[in-house]
Amino acid sequence: MSMLFYVRVDEIFLKGKNQKMFFDVLRENLKKTLSPTFIKRTEGGLLLDISEKKKELLGLIPGVAKYSSVSVCKNVLTEMIKAGYKILKDFKGKTFAIDTNRSYKKFPLKSQEINKEVGAELAKKFSLKVDLNNPEIKISIFITKDETYVCGDDVEGVGGLPVGTSGKVMCLLSGGIDSPVAAYLMMKRGAQIQLIHFQNQTQVTQEVSEKIFDLAKVLSQYQSKIKLHIVPFAGWQKQVVMKIPADIRMLITRRLMFKIAQNIARKEKCLALCTGDSVGQVASQTLENMEVVYMAAEMLKLNPLSGANKIEITQLARKIGTLDISNRPYEDCCSLFVDKHPQTKAKISHIEEVEKRLDLSTLDKTEVISYNISMS
Ligand code: ATP
Ligand code: MG
Repeated sequence: MSMLFYVRVDEIFLKGKNQKMFFDVLRENLKKTLSPTFIKRTEGGLLLDISEKKKELLGLIPGVAKYSSVSVCKNVLTEMIKAGYKILKDFKGKTFAIDTNRSYKKFPLKSQEINKEVGAELAKKFSLKVDLNNPEIKISIFITKDETYVCGDDVEGVGGLPVGTSGKVMCLLSGGIDSPVAAYLMMKRGAQIQLIHFQNQTQVTQEVSEKIFDLAKVLSQYQSKIKLHIVPFAGWQKQVVMKIPADIRMLITRRLMFKIAQNIARKEKCLALCTGDSVGQVASQTLENMEVVYMAAEMLKLNPLSGANKIEITQLARKIGTLDISNRPYEDCCSLFVDKHPQTKAKISHIEEVEKRLDLSTLDKTEVISYNISMS
């Protein structure tokens, strides 16, 4: 069944002269991700008709701050009351409130008067009580120049900026819980993301490969299509095992990832690299080690989870639909390098010295296989 929704934004309203551009991008994104049968910009938001099954997704699309079911009518009081009937027809509670917003100031009644008039009729029809402080449902009425929107309860969306308004970001995706969440958070800040995954192709099984593709698919729901780059990594890992002491293998491996990711990111015109690093979570995430790892590439690095706790990250992973996939068993290529006594306070001079043992002459020619991932 399809349903009409009224979407509102938050930060887009702060964009002054650029507001139209941000709205246009949001509208295009909603078209691509939710395939509405109808969509239009209104004075305060966007009106769209989508399949009811997709409404949960609506709350996770970057840029959507709030949404509600809506009934559209003429700027006539009796019509507003009828629209209110439609909104309340399946409502099971006892209390309600009405909140009118009149951007069309020529409408003859003031907001308060409309609240009163419509409220009295709805209360009578459904035997409800008005409760302004803690209503079980809040009906919002928006009167614009051309028509009126009568909305049911607001559902919170994620807000932020529409994907594509901040440029491209290359996200390092492991099979863990954190990196898909980091990628999602960058989309919420307007980045169009690409994913890069380093895979020990000699070890991977079918399930492992599927896991990465499934994560990419879930993330693609929020920006319609995602480019996923898989880098066969076994050759590099073999060199690391042969030439690098165990306690710093992880750090050198992650430096190699950054160098290769940066090369590909530049080719793809990305403006930053993003990881799922969270400060102090594992040995490679002490500040000392993070600095040493990040020095491997000059590009801007974004770590939206730096200050997040595991429990917060896990909750968000559940919400965006990646947690169950991340929890599937998976031998990440890094698990090869988990050492009993890893270095936690690496020094860049030492790391650079040891790294010279690797033959990096072919680094720029590292093979990469790229895919375009979408949900369908
Ligand atoms: P995650 O849950 O994202 O795996 P983690 O806490 O397990 O995070 P690490 O395994 O140390 O952390 O990895 C830190 C970050 O490095 C990841 O969030 C990811 O951005 C990147 N990374 C690690 N392994 C890979 C990989 N095989 N391919 C691409 N990126 C990786
Ligand atoms: Mg990991």
